[in-house]
Amino acid sequence: MCGGMELKNEVLASATCALCGACLDWCPYIANIEDHLVLRFDCNVSNGRCYSVCPRTFTDWEAISEKYLPDIPRDFAIGPHLKAYKVKAAKGINGQQDGGTVSYLVKTILEDELAETVLLTGTDDQVTPEPFLSSEIDDIQKSAGSRFLASPGMRKIIEAQNNKVQKMAVVGRPCQIQALRKLDYNRPPQKPEVEVLSIGLFCMWSLGWDFKDYLQKQFPEEEVLRLAIPQHGFEVTTDKGVHELPIDTVKKFSRAGCNYCLDMTSELADISVGAFEPQEGWNTVIIRTPKGQQIFNDALTKGYLISEEYPEEELKRLKGASLGKKTRNLNHVQTAFDKGVKPFIDLNSAYYIQLKELAEGMVK
Ligand SMILES: Cc1cc2nc3c(=O)[nH]c(=O)nc-3n(C[C@H](O)[C@H](O)[C@H](O)COP(=O)(O)OP(=O)(O)OC[C@H]3O[C@@H](n4cnc5c(N)ncnc54)[C@H](O)[C@@H]3O)c2cc1C
Repeated sequence: MCGGMELKNEVLASATCALCGACLDWCPYIANIEDHLVLRFDCNVSNGRCYSVCPRTFTDWEAISEKYLPDIPRDFAIGPHLKAYKVKAAKGINGQQDGGTVSYLVKTILEDELAETVLLTGTDDQVTPEPFLSSEIDDIQKSAGSRFLASPGMRKIIEAQNNKVQKMAVVGRPCQIQALRKLDYNRPPQKPEVEVLSIGLFCMWSLGWDFKDYLQKQFPEEEVLRLAIPQHGFEVTTDKGVHELPIDTVKKFSRAGCNYCLDMTSELADISVGAFEPQEGWNTVIIRTPKGQQIFNDALTKGYLISEEYPEEELKRLKGASLGKKTRNLNHVQTAFDKGVKPFIDLNSAYYIQLKELAEGMVK
């Protein structure tokens, strides 16, 4: 039985926190300022929800995957899935990050009443991520474009539960989709079930909020209109022009907690969306569950999305990138455990043994 003190010691103090936000707002003890979470007071609760929903406390991910994606063909590199497509929005939406696919999937969900409310992230400012719940199609525009800073969006699940929402949709980073599944997996029997449709984003890492200060110093007096990661670097578009930053400079601002993440493609989502790297303005879409297939088909039928077969060569590259993240971060995980961080995954399970063997093979 574990609660807030264990969360503090095992996750918050060890810097493994993913800033998914799932632990926030169950009680007033955990507070959030920008990308920091703190336990404000000592907590005596021995079976805290904060601990049981955290993606960085011990989790049997294979059991969770079996429960929520049963009978879906397994793939070691990019997770269980039915099919991958190259996709973009037929008309597009102002400010979209890549192909605008996510915005039109959300529009489809709201129009077809597949969810009462959707968890989105965005503001007028293109850097600061602010999570919000909305049932309004007009609000989709506010969330167009990626804010690469991490934000604790999963805290909004409690707001949805308090509003008695029974069907919701979530757009989130891989850690947030993990938390979403864990939340239901460890749901106490007396808590009502919430039907959730999940759109998972691809994510190699997210940035700490000190990156915002860095941008202000680098480009004083300029308003940032868009951040993007094309193949050649990191692009900052401001009202004065387009600036390029070396990717290694930007990576220095990635959150320490991202080093412990083994999921690049949101492997537990109903449908996952990322950039289609070889061609700007398109997305990669991975359909994982029949629910994901349904919203995708609906968006195609409405004429919102255009899809093409996924090129075999690109699928190979995507799997390589995903395995690269897994193997790199597995080393971080192992080192953390060796230094005394409490294990949050079973490195002796068949899955991680196979991954370790692969990592060793890759290193040779
Ligand atoms: C932190 C981060 C890292 C990423 N890393 C990669 C990567 O390595 N490789 C890759 O292919 N793709 C990555 N992506 C995904 C990519 O940037 C696009 O989100 C994705 O391709 C969908 O594009 P779109 O045009 O369909 O999105 P749009 O139609 O523009 O919709 C954007 C959606 O993103 C959501 N969103 C924006 N910021 C955040 C945030 N901070 N947290 C949660 N949700 C958010 C909004 O709610 C909105 O629904 C990353 C995204 C984020 C937020």
